[in-house]
Amino acid sequence: MKRITIAKGDGIGPEIMDATLKVILAAGARIEVDEIAVGEQVYLSGNTSGIAKESWDIIRSNQVFLKAPITTPQGGGYKSLNVTTRKMLGLYANVRPCSSLHPYVETKHPLLDLVIIRENEEDLYAGIEHQQTDEVVQCLKLISRPGCEKIIRYAFEYAKSQGRKKVTCFTKDNIMKQTDGLFHAIFDEIGAEYPEFEKEHWIVDIGAAKLADTPELFDVIVTLNLYGDVLSDVAAQIAGSVGLAGSANIGEEFAMFEAIHGSAPRRAGQNVANPSGLLQGAVMMLNHIGQHDVAEKVHNAWLKTLEDGIHTYDIYKVGISRQKVGTSEFADAIIERLGQQPKSLKVADYSQAQPIQLIPYKKRAPGLKELQGVDLFVHWSGTDANELGESVKQIGTANLKLSMITNRGIKVWPEGFKETFCTDHWRCRFYSSEGRQATKQELIALQQQALDKGIDVIKTEQLYKFDGKPAYSLGQGQ
Ligand code: NAD
Repeated sequence: MKRITIAKGDGIGPEIMDATLKVILAAGARIEVDEIAVGEQVYLSGNTSGIAKESWDIIRSNQVFLKAPITTPQGGGYKSLNVTTRKMLGLYANVRPCSSLHPYVETKHPLLDLVIIRENEEDLYAGIEHQQTDEVVQCLKLISRPGCEKIIRYAFEYAKSQGRKKVTCFTKDNIMKQTDGLFHAIFDEIGAEYPEFEKEHWIVDIGAAKLADTPELFDVIVTLNLYGDVLSDVAAQIAGSVGLAGSANIGEEFAMFEAIHGSAPRRAGQNVANPSGLLQGAVMMLNHIGQHDVAEKVHNAWLKTLEDGIHTYDIYKVGISRQKVGTSEFADAIIERLGQQPKSLKVADYSQAQPIQLIPYKKRAPGLKELQGVDLFVHWSGTDANELGESVKQIGTANLKLSMITNRGIKVWPEGFKETFCTDHWRCRFYSSEGRQATKQELIALQQQALDKGIDVIKTEQLYKFDGKPAYSLGQGQ
């Protein structure tokens, strides 16, 4: 018997959770359930995180969490509980399988059968945002070596455990050479340890177009948080419906299972929602806790129900479906079919399922770090970059000299184009003289000079070489 935590969430959440629990308990799931409250009511009671402190204790003690979707109230101040839970519990891998159920669920892609493995903790979802000037706000994109190594290793180990053949990496490293570049480089590095797989890398824009056009070309996709968020919804929708896909959030100690869709408030309380997404999440949970027999029984009865044309409104099609049913009737139809297998859809077989090997990250020895200079970000409301250049050129040390100014990444001084549109957010790059490292004292002296001259520095970024290689982007046009 395994104790798990559940939360019924908001909108359609309670209905799809009741349906899901009814099915898995009828199939013989060996679970005991602790229920906690999360979501809208908790937010509106004044708790901006959407979850009470005591609930964390229950989640942490049970380690396995089945969560229905929640509504994040509109307006400032409310933190997304989903993002918080994933990060607080170290759930670094978000696993989203999608396969089409042709010809029983309408799709343009009958052969679609893929899994998106999305990095779950980093990227723009670190949620570090600041307004820096009147005109410019910033969101920090953080990518770490441990983050990349863990998710990419997970993707290969997952592919191995599921008998999949190919792993594809999506990034935008032609533009983001440091952040996405690191993800791609680590994909190549770790990929080399798995020679048995076909490996490929796509730039995410054309990769996304291919995914939407010919999804059957893909098998396992590993990608960064934002791209994975968007593309997994696309993949689920083109497979048939966002209402069909489940997701697992996996970490070293904890795991959370859910549907990929939201709380669909417009459909709430009407017994119409499709519970399949959460049920698929529950199937992944049963596999995770080693109850493969129950997972298989539920999965096959679900496939048989869909094959029999018993469909909720979102996938109901005249000519394909036989009966339009509500949430609870759909659950009852699955229960009636427990023990049966689909006739033409691929039968789920978890008898050979292997636990996925989670390989802990090994910290590396620190590299050689050399300070080369600094970017001073300046708030200035003028428009002529040459005027700013003349003023900022006045500051500097014997070693640190102004080398260029960019505006939104484009070089505007020296020798900028007068046509380049400029905001009030300027990056002034100071480099040390050739061959000499800068010192922190020099950076402080530079800032003091800027202050004395009335230059409004709103942030600085140090320029380092790591192991002899410049580890920062150049200005566009530099
Ligand atoms: P949504 O996924 O809730 O719904 C979009 C539309 O998809 C619905 O109107 C409905 O037509 C359809 N749909 C979704 N799930 C369905 C199902 N099970 N059966 C049938 N049809 C279904 O997206 P949204 O409307 O953008 O978001 C609503 C709320 O959900 C927001 O507050 C959002 O923050 C939240 N949300 C929560 C989660 C989560 O808890 N994991 C994820 C996404 C969105």
